[in-house]
Amino acid sequence: MSETLDTSIRYLKGIGPKRAKVFQASGINTIEDLIYYFPRNYQDRTNFIPISNLQEGFLQTIKAEVLLQRQRTSFKRRGFTITEVIVGDESGKISVVWFNQPYLRDYFKTGEKLILSGKVERYGAKLQMHSPEFEIISEEGDDALDLNRLVPVYSLPEGVTQRYFRKIIKSALDKFLPQIKDFLSFEARSRNNLVNLARALMDIHFPENQEARMRAYERLSFDEFFIFQLPLVLRKLNRKDKQGIAHTVNGKLLDDYIAALPFRLTNAQEKTLLEIKSDMSKPLPMQRLLQGDVGSGKTVVAIIASLAAIQSGYQAAIMVPTEILARQHYEKISFQLSAFSSQPKIRIRLLTSSLKKNEKTKVYRQMQDGTVDLVIGTHALLEETVGFKNLGLVVIDEQHKFGVGQRALLPKKGLNPDCLIMTATPIPRTLAITLYGDLDISVINELPAGRIPVKTLNYRGKDQAKAYLTAIEQLKLGRQAYIIYPVIEESYALDMAGAKKMYARLKNEEFKDFRLGLIHGKLDEKEQNEIMLKFKEKELDVLIATTILEVGIDIANASCMIIEHAERFGLAQLHQLRGRVGRGPYQSFCILLSGALTPDAEARINAMVRYNDGFRIAEEDLKIRGPGEFFGRRQHGLTELKIANPLTQMQLLKRAREEAIRLIEADPHLQARQNILAREKLLQRFPEYEKLMVVG
Ligand code: ADP
Ligand code: MG
Repeated sequence: MSETLDTSIRYLKGIGPKRAKVFQASGINTIEDLIYYFPRNYQDRTNFIPISNLQEGFLQTIKAEVLLQRQRTSFKRRGFTITEVIVGDESGKISVVWFNQPYLRDYFKTGEKLILSGKVERYGAKLQMHSPEFEIISEEGDDALDLNRLVPVYSLPEGVTQRYFRKIIKSALDKFLPQIKDFLSFEARSRNNLVNLARALMDIHFPENQEARMRAYERLSFDEFFIFQLPLVLRKLNRKDKQGIAHTVNGKLLDDYIAALPFRLTNAQEKTLLEIKSDMSKPLPMQRLLQGDVGSGKTVVAIIASLAAIQSGYQAAIMVPTEILARQHYEKISFQLSAFSSQPKIRIRLLTSSLKKNEKTKVYRQMQDGTVDLVIGTHALLEETVGFKNLGLVVIDEQHKFGVGQRALLPKKGLNPDCLIMTATPIPRTLAITLYGDLDISVINELPAGRIPVKTLNYRGKDQAKAYLTAIEQLKLGRQAYIIYPVIEESYALDMAGAKKMYARLKNEEFKDFRLGLIHGKLDEKEQNEIMLKFKEKELDVLIATTILEVGIDIANASCMIIEHAERFGLAQLHQLRGRVGRGPYQSFCILLSGALTPDAEARINAMVRYNDGFRIAEEDLKIRGPGEFFGRRQHGLTELKIANPLTQMQLLKRAREEAIRLIEADPHLQARQNILAREKLLQRFPEYEKLMVVG
C-alpha cells in the first residue's frame, strides 16, 4: 500500500500507535490533517535580543543559560506558587518567573541553554520575564528547524515537545507535498495574486521570512473563505431556477393593521418592509435575513409579511425556539388583530408540543385543510405529521437558536415558500456575508423612539445587598424585576449560587415583602407558562430565572435585572438578557454581579457597561472570542475557518467570494475536468452537497 494524504499518521516515521492516539485527540488523524495543523504563532529566532537591551512591556525572545533556579510560594492570594529561574547571556542576567506551574520546579538544570519568549515587566527596580514559552536547546549542535529562523510554535498534543512536533511536520511536508494538488487554477491564482498550494503549505510552517509567511497565510485563508463560500453561492444561484410565489403585498388588510398599531413604524422598519415586500411580490422564493437588535421591533415586520401572504390566499407560519415565546407571540398577535376587524377574519393558531393530543390533532387538520391562516409554533411545526394546504411564507424567529438543518425543514412543507429569517444577533457586514452569503440581508438599525437606554452597573459579589436594594426601590415604584442565575442547582465545586436555593432564600429574607416566582428549564412547559402569565399579570413582582429568559420575553413593566455570576455568561447572552428590560417608558437597570474575573470576563463586562448597541456588542464579542467560538460549533462550519478571519481579511473574503461566484456561474455542478479538485475539496468539507450537485 502506498501512502497518500489520507493515510493515517500511524504510518509516519516517528509516530507509533501510542503517539497516534495522542495526535488523534488533537484532531490529527491523517497526514493531510497534520499538514493542515497550522502554527499558533512564530518566534523570530534570527535575532535574539541581548538581555541588557530588553524593554519593559514587550514580548521578546532571548537565548540564555540557566544560572539558578528556585521556587517560592506566596501565601498572599490562596498560596500560588512562583517558579523563578535566573538566566544570563554575555550582556547580563534576568529573572524569569512562571506562576502556578509547580511542575517546573527542578525542571531546568544549571548550565542548560534556553530560548525564552515572553513579556518583560518591571518588578521593583528590575526587569522580569513573565511566563515565557521556552525551549531547551539540545547539547549536540543546533537543528535547522529550531534556530536562526522564523520558528513555528504549535498548540501541542499532550506530552509532545515543539521540537519533536516540528520534525514530524517537516518530514510529512517533505514526503507528501509532491502529492498536493492545487484546486485553484493557474488563472484563479494569478487573478488573486496567490502562491500555489504546496508552496503555501510549506511556508505556513517553515517560512523563509515574514513575507513568505504572509503570502502563505493569504493563500490558505483564501482557500478557507473560498470553500466556505462555495456552498452558499451554490445555494443562492440555484434559487434563481426555482418557481416561487408572487404575493400581493399591498392592500387594505396591511393598511388597517398598521393603522391600528399603537405606534408608528420606525424608518428602519419601513425600509426593511419595502425590501421584504419587493421580494415577496416576485415569483422567486425569498430568502431574507432580518437582523435587528433586541427590542428593535422585528415581530411587527414579520406579522405584516404574514398578512401579505394571507391576503394573497396563502398560509403563513412563524417558528420560535421556546414555548413561552410562542405563546407570547400568539397572544400579542391575536390581540393586535382583534384591534381592527379584517374581512374575512384572520384565523390564527398556536402549535406547541405541550398542547393536548386532541387539540394538536385539530390544529394539524386545520393547517392541512386550510382553515387556519397563521400558525405560531415551536419545533413542533417540524414534526413529520405536520402539513400545510398552501404554505406561502415561513418566518423563523431567533434563528440562532435553531440548527441549520432545522431551519431548512419548515420551508420544505410548502412549495418554495418565501422565507424570512430573523436574528437578534446583529453582526458586522463582512461576517454576515461570510455566514449568510446565500441570503439577502435587511437590517433594522434603529430602536423605536422614546426608549431610555438601560443603565448597566458593574458590581462585585460583595455588593449583592446593594444590588437587591436597587431592585427593591424599583419594586416600590410598582415595577417588576428579574434575578438571573447561570444554573438551577448551586454548585459547591464552582462556588456558584443556583436559582432554586436563592429563590428559597430571597423569598424569606431580602425580598420577603414581595411576591417571587421561580422559572427554569427543568419545569415542564405548562408550569413555565403559568409562571410567565402570573408575572405578566403582575401577580408576581420578581422572577428568579435561568437563561430561559434569554430570548424574546417582552414585558414592559420589568425595569430591573440582576445577573448573578455575570462572569459566567457570554457577551451575546448578557446582551440578550439585558434586552428583557428597558422595554417600557421607564429608566431600567441591569446590574451585573460578578466574582473573580478572567481578563476575557472583564472585557465582556466592560463592553456591557459601555455599549447598549447590539452591533457594537457583537463586534466586541467577536474580538474577544474570535468568529468560531462566537457562533458556536453547532451553528455553522465556522470552525472550518482555522486561520482566515473575516474581520481582518475583508478584501480577501470578497475576492474569494467573487472567485466562487465565477466558478459556479461557469460550471454550476462543478463537473468540468479542471474543477474536479474543487468539487472534491467542497464535498470533503461539506458532504451534504453531494445532493445539490447531481451530475447531469
Ligand atoms: P425584537 O426585535 O426584539 O423581537 P419586538 O418585536 O419584541 O422586538 O418589539 C419590542 C417591543 O417594541 C414590543 O413591545 C413592540 O410592540 C414594540 N414596538 C415595535 N415596533 C415599535 C415602534 N415602531 N414603536 C414603538 N414600539 C414598537
Ligand atoms: Mg423577537
